[in-house]
Amino acid sequence: MRIGVHVSIGKGLRQAVQTAKHLGCDAFQIFIGNPRGWKKKPLADQEVVEFRQAVQETGLGPVVVHLSYLPNPAAEDEALYEKSILGMAEEYQRAVMIGADYFVVHPGKRGRQDQEKALLKVARGVREILKQVEGPTLFLLENQAGAGTEVGGNLSQLVRILKEIDHPERTGICFDTCHAFAAGYELRTKEGIDCLLKEVESTVGLKRMPLLHLNDALGALGSHLDRHTHIGQGQIGTEGFRLLLTDPRLSGLTGILETPQQTPDDDLKNMALLRQLACGEAR
Ligand SMILES: [Zn+2]
Ligand SMILES: [Zn+2]
Repeated sequence: MRIGVHVSIGKGLRQAVQTAKHLGCDAFQIFIGNPRGWKKKPLADQEVVEFRQAVQETGLGPVVVHLSYLPNPAAEDEALYEKSILGMAEEYQRAVMIGADYFVVHPGKRGRQDQEKALLKVARGVREILKQVEGPTLFLLENQAGAGTEVGGNLSQLVRILKEIDHPERTGICFDTCHAFAAGYELRTKEGIDCLLKEVESTVGLKRMPLLHLNDALGALGSHLDRHTHIGQGQIGTEGFRLLLTDPRLSGLTGILETPQQTPDDDLKNMALLRQLACGEAR
């Protein structure tokens, strides 16, 4: 499995690639602009060229872009929905421009709308974006912890949206371990992982789940608590990650850490542990 972390673009796109390289990542994830704002300053052509060059020189990849926090593609409010789809289209366009392999989005919150209506709404929005913006960047829906009215708390909801989008060659799933565990997916046993992978295989197929977010979970199984923590320090624990990282069915995937970054060493420690676990060590 190729391993990486979410890196900051605070010092520019090119610097983000260098940061990932220095950390010893194989792959990396970024936001493409301020994650907490709607307004994005335009990407300069030079910035894009330098980023692509840096990616090529370092050999890092896949490159992942994560959608910012504000867009809600399931929004009940029509104005917010429109704004969200526009914002997502803009960020997807940027992901395509910088040559990202994957673009990851959360399916949003449905509010008082019923589940089916919300799923169709998300699908309609994504279909519109894919029509507007051509490009090879795969559009991935991320599973959620299922807190409150979050859409995508189980894989069957994501599968339903993907089916409605009806662009299998351009879409897929990003599987977040913390969210899944909080949503009730048992990841600490071989049986649990078998069950999960069987569900994926019998629906969209493993090929359409190329990306994992590797986060340990502070909340208990089925708690719906979306709180990421360091690998081995949460409820999934080292045994769960060892099982995931040594599973031959997942060996071709990419795993990105989104664990807390309180000290500069945090990412290094988490990555080192993941790599040890991938060799079947550190039990
Ligand atoms: Zn996410
Ligand atoms: Zn995630």
